[in-house]
Amino acid sequence: MLGLMMDAPLRIPDILEHAAKYYPKTEIVSRNEDSTLHRYGYADAARRARQLAKALSRMGLERGDRIATLAWNNHRHFELYYAVPGAGLVCHTVNPRLFPEQLVFILNDAQDRYLFSDVAFARLVAGVAPYAKSLRGIVFNCDRDHMPKDLPDGLPPVLCYEDLIDAEDDDFEWPVLDERTASGMCYTSGTTGNPKGVLYSHRSTVLHAMAVNQPGLFGIAPDETVLPVVPMFHVNAWCVPYAAALVGARLVLPGPRLDGPGLLEVIHGEKVTIGAGVPTIWLNLVNYADQAGQSVAPMNRVVVGGAACPQTLIERLAAHKALAVHAWGMTETSPLGAVSVLSAEQQYLPEAEKMKLMLKQGRAPFGIEMRIAGPDGKELPWDGVARGDLEVRGPWIASGYFNNTDRSQFTGDGWFKTGDISTIDADGFMNIVDRSKDVIKSGGEWISSIELENLAMGHPSVLEAAVIARADSRWSERPRYIIVLREGKMLTGPELRAFIAPHVATWWIPEDMIIVTELPHGATGKVLKVDLRARYGAENHPDAIRLSDQ
Ligand code: AMP
Repeated sequence: MLGLMMDAPLRIPDILEHAAKYYPKTEIVSRNEDSTLHRYGYADAARRARQLAKALSRMGLERGDRIATLAWNNHRHFELYYAVPGAGLVCHTVNPRLFPEQLVFILNDAQDRYLFSDVAFARLVAGVAPYAKSLRGIVFNCDRDHMPKDLPDGLPPVLCYEDLIDAEDDDFEWPVLDERTASGMCYTSGTTGNPKGVLYSHRSTVLHAMAVNQPGLFGIAPDETVLPVVPMFHVNAWCVPYAAALVGARLVLPGPRLDGPGLLEVIHGEKVTIGAGVPTIWLNLVNYADQAGQSVAPMNRVVVGGAACPQTLIERLAAHKALAVHAWGMTETSPLGAVSVLSAEQQYLPEAEKMKLMLKQGRAPFGIEMRIAGPDGKELPWDGVARGDLEVRGPWIASGYFNNTDRSQFTGDGWFKTGDISTIDADGFMNIVDRSKDVIKSGGEWISSIELENLAMGHPSVLEAAVIARADSRWSERPRYIIVLREGKMLTGPELRAFIAPHVATWWIPEDMIIVTELPHGATGKVLKVDLRARYGAENHPDAIRLSDQ
């Protein structure tokens, strides 16, 4: 017998309409390219999203067509986040930090019909658009006065965003869609092989937005102001633009200014209470705030993900009275897969024990199931020791890739293989030890590069640390530190060894380190270990500095 409840589809535009109806004046503050701030309320945003959807519905598109965006976190990108899926199309966010060849591959693979771009990326667009075969037009996200000049010939027709909006009224009914209709698309980083398209649905996105906003996770309340520093061009900015609107919270979109001074200015000026971003962003922010003798208040919660959250960041944020909420996820998981949230009894553990838990990537939220598998595919115990391939499943996890029949990342029984190696303890706390392709196996035993990196980053002279596997004639692989020093600081090998030695088994301690001026980062801010290994992975590297005197 079926329940007697209404069957209302979960639709993305309903989130914005809800915010517009109940929080019409609550602001979305957005940093323009010229650094000025644009502000309007949810009612204005919804009105413009309807106008844009109406314009899109006149552009000769078919349901399910992909519309690419190349844009910072700003109010027009926010409107596209709702108008495109709301009109029955797919909002395909494209990462402007990718190489032009990757962009061309992605635009062609997705068969994008239109590209909505910030003016800042005009040159990039001019370079790639002629090779994007399915593009029928380019829309620049600006008004007529700010349209890019001197565009080369041979581009598809170029349109102006504000002209599209001005030509329409907002008398638009969002089409009734099956909630499983495709809504958004984001390509994986493609560190191995070509990027692959992940295709989100209205249902997965709405469920995920509700899930990320549970207390203990993002837990954004209607009276809060949230700052997604995580880019809207990657995994829907962790769904913050949807989660904030769902509860009518105030939203600050930082545009292109992601440096310490730029972020601190909006945190103070707009009274931000919660932020979301990768560790590097927050390390830069606290460095700047500490140097300037300023506090990050009123920001009191910071969601940290995309890479392991180092202990030093948790401690330095705590010194500013801000709580680091450590979360794990990936493009294929919408992204939230796990979050380090303490239970009632864990709140009363000694500080050092709590820190150990906060450094782990944490528990799956309701809706997500996790397991770890050994090399034979058999499930491993949740004992905090056994390491295996992390597999997940749930209603906001990818079930396949767009335009791609490769099933190698899916198990026979329908779980997604994340490519991360992790442990899970008896309390369900998952801990990523490495990306499987970055694993260091020394004498047949695993060494966690993440744990070694975390330890080194606690040293006052170290700004950033990566650990890679170098060749070793005896152990086949040994870990090697690649270190970036803080400005004006020095570090000897024995100093680093003495600093980490109390915390790890002796055989984990790298024999050497190489000091570099910066680490190579990929388009989503992750350290490119493949590059580091190619450059510094030889057993005897001339720049290697030994950690012990012998
Ligand atoms: P992406 O799909 O580009 O967002 O990258 C996802 C990958 O980032 C994951 O598979 C992990 O390897 C890594 N990652 C994300 N969050 C964390 C975290 N909290 N700790 C360690 N690695 C993380």
